[in-house]
Amino acid sequence: MNIDLSRRGFLKLAGAGVAATSLGAMGFGKAEAAELAHVRDFKLAQTTETRNTCPYCSVACGIIIYARPDDTGARRVVHIEGDADHPTNRGTLCPKGAALKDFVNAETRLTEPMVRRPGSDRFEPISWDEALDRIARAIKDDRDANFLATNELGVPVNRWTTTGFLAASATTNETAWLTYKVVRSMGIVGFDNQARV
Ligand code: SF4
Repeated sequence: MNIDLSRRGFLKLAGAGVAATSLGAMGFGKAEAAELAHVRDFKLAQTTETRNTCPYCSVACGIIIYARPDDTGARRVVHIEGDADHPTNRGTLCPKGAALKDFVNAETRLTEPMVRRPGSDRFEPISWDEALDRIARAIKDDRDANFLATNELGVPVNRWTTTGFLAASATTNETAWLTYKVVRSMGIVGFDNQARV
């Protein structure tokens, strides 16, 4: 009987035969092949990478955050690891940093501004617009009331000691420079800007 087989078809057939023979030679029976078919996907598949800084302490280790959409379409952090290119930690993380994913995904994590109004015994969520308006109002009122242009000897000091400022350093150098300039230009003395904040 003649078999009508093109060159491409012949190569395909030969390849399949070699693969089947090789699997057999390595001891993969039907059961093993079925098991291989259920090997789970690479856990970082389909994720996006975002570089950031561990917020726990002043060492400020570099991290890479991996996220992908969950069933509702919202992006969820699925893995966090040390950034091998970061000069501080070279990819390593201490146990606290290694557990960051659970901190980010914790149900108790604060994700919106809160206010405790005068006379109230509880905090309530407010919009960012309202929060920023309240902060601006409080800053202006306190500075107007307490800014010291000169000390008791008449020496110019331009300081404002009744308000403090906390800032986090998971930002660019430019943002940190601007933060410093804004805070110091208002005369604020109590200022902390670093990773653990
Ligand atoms: S990983 Fe550990 S050492 Fe590094 S910043 Fe976070 S808490 Fe500090």
